[in-house]
Amino acid sequence: MKRTTGTDRSITQGWRSATQAVRGGTWRSEAGETSEALFLTSGYAYDDAETAAARFRGEDPGMTYSRLQNPTVAMLEERIALMDKAEACRVQASGMAAMTAALLCQLSQGDHVVAGRAAFGSCRWLVDQLLPRFGIASTTIDARDNAAWEAAIQPNTKVFFFETPANPTMDIVDLKAVCDLAKAHGITTVVDNAFATPALQRPIEWGADVVAYSATKMMDGQGRVLAGAVAGSAQFINDKLLPFQRNTGPNLSPFNAWVVLKGLETLDLRIRRQSENSMAVGKMLEGRVPKINHPGLASFPQHNLAMQQMDACGGIFSFEVEGRAQAHALLNALQLIDISNNIGDSRSLMCHNASTTHYSVSAEAREEMGVTEGMLRLNVGLEDPADLIEDLDQALRSAGL
Ligand SMILES: *Cc1c(COP(=O)(O)O)cnc(C)c1O
Repeated sequence: MKRTTGTDRSITQGWRSATQAVRGGTWRSEAGETSEALFLTSGYAYDDAETAAARFRGEDPGMTYSRLQNPTVAMLEERIALMDKAEACRVQASGMAAMTAALLCQLSQGDHVVAGRAAFGSCRWLVDQLLPRFGIASTTIDARDNAAWEAAIQPNTKVFFFETPANPTMDIVDLKAVCDLAKAHGITTVVDNAFATPALQRPIEWGADVVAYSATKMMDGQGRVLAGAVAGSAQFINDKLLPFQRNTGPNLSPFNAWVVLKGLETLDLRIRRQSENSMAVGKMLEGRVPKINHPGLASFPQHNLAMQQMDACGGIFSFEVEGRAQAHALLNALQLIDISNNIGDSRSLMCHNASTTHYSVSAEAREEMGVTEGMLRLNVGLEDPADLIEDLDQALRSAGL
């Protein structure tokens, strides 16, 4: 195996994110394949016993066991690190495996976490339910409010954890202000960048320490596999994340890594087209529904901040109708868009968050984070936006809007 562009990153590092998405981290075997090879192997054989011993001592760079290293997985890790301008990255079996590893690898009993209150349901469960069982306290705040971050800091605060845009309210966090504040207090920022991906937003450029992903979403992009990733400094990945990951084993299978590598090749193209389609659909809905949370629309309160941090708005947004009955009626009238709680797919998908993705969050927490009974989240896909607009138009009329 050799890298296609030499043995260090001196050449590849300068390439822009769209180039990295196609080429970054590519290794080639002796066969000279153009498409990344899929290494479905759990173990590796050694020429002699001394080589095996040298590998375990870390003195021979070869691989030992796929919980520790795998060539296909390593290509994906290097590609995501290059796209994110991070020093290193490790991938996990799902987005939630990534979030869990990113938090637990660095937190201990007695620590405190400040988290954005608008978040993916399972991210809230980690903060509200799992961390307290290990003596790790947390405060959830309105992550749009820079002063709220500062006010929540305690002497034992170790981590700021947030999504931007947040799922599904689309709350935007001021990356520079919040990361600067964290740095001044020696706090590690962990940013869930699943919605924007490194194609549209690179939190490390704004001062973030750790970037975590559900690669299930836009990175795969075609609704096929679960995957997650954590990127950051070599020190964080090697000293904190790797010991946790290697010994607890939330690893991504080489097959799923290969699928995500194929997905990344088209990420830039897809996310820009999905952003354009989402703008067209958002403009149509803007005049028809009581409320729309769409970072690309000038009416969105955090539109300017969103567009400062992101290269485009992305394909996902939410909007509100009058309560659960009308939301369900609208979903049931759809003819093209699927009722599905997945996002990042090239198919347009819509769901009612309060009864699906945020079902496990208490009603009070849902209300506090802005996931109302009338909220619907729409993932705008790669279909012709005119067809999507026609489908929404007939479904809105059918639901009395
Ligand atoms: C989907 C999602 C996750 C969880 O990812 P999985 O791959 O489903 O485990 C975490 N954070 C955000 C923002 C998500 O959208």
